[in-house]
Amino acid sequence: ACTTNDVVTALRAAAATVAEHRVELTDLDRPIGDADHGENMHRGFTALTAALDGAVPETPGAVLKLVATTLISKVGGAAGPLYGTAFLRAATAVGQAPELDTAAVVAALRAGLDGVVARGKAEVGDATMVDALARAVEAAEAATSDGVAAVLTAAADAADEGANSTIPLVARKGRASYLGERSIGHLDPGARSTALLLRAFAEAR
Ligand code: ADP
Ligand code: MG
Ligand code: MG
Repeated sequence: ACTTNDVVTALRAAAATVAEHRVELTDLDRPIGDADHGENMHRGFTALTAALDGAVPETPGAVLKLVATTLISKVGGAAGPLYGTAFLRAATAVGQAPELDTAAVVAALRAGLDGVVARGKAEVGDATMVDALARAVEAAEAATSDGVAAVLTAAADAADEGANSTIPLVARKGRASYLGERSIGHLDPGARSTALLLRAFAEAR
């Protein structure tokens, strides 16, 4: 099972990963966007870490809600509202349970994906974060009977593949879509950040 403390540990790991990959994420956003994705994510996760240093909410769901409000107010751009909606839907999915079992973790991932799709209207193959997250959710659902650790590892592995799958694609949503065919050959920055977040969740201890 996954306690409030486990969720906080995973989020702190995610913040550390974002800080480590800040330049990489911004560099990915340079040729096909406006070179700010790493800064946007870092601003949000720095604020999240500060909020968690102040006071940790009581339940996993309340922590996920804090993530949502913090990312929505601090990340900005396209990614802020998208990640914010993902965490808000995940928070709603888990409710006020004191601990999350494997099914709840998988349901939270599914709800997060549904939130991103509802908000951004991207489909798999549009070369966005949805390409990483949708594959992650499918893999997580297939691994549900194997426990939380296996679910998160399966999700992270699938998200890596999903992110890499954006390279040969024409971007159809977000700034990269303004480039049309010239977006071919680039790893989508939001897909990369999704894969990094899931890897951090899987490896957090
Ligand atoms: P901005 O493009 O406003 O500068 P960011 O650079 O922080 O915002 O985030 C860009 C990322 O947001 C893209 O790489 C893509 O993964 C994601 N994105 C943009 N629009 C959409 C959308 N409609 N649906 C899903 N993801 C999207
Ligand atoms: Mg950008
Ligand atoms: Mg921007």
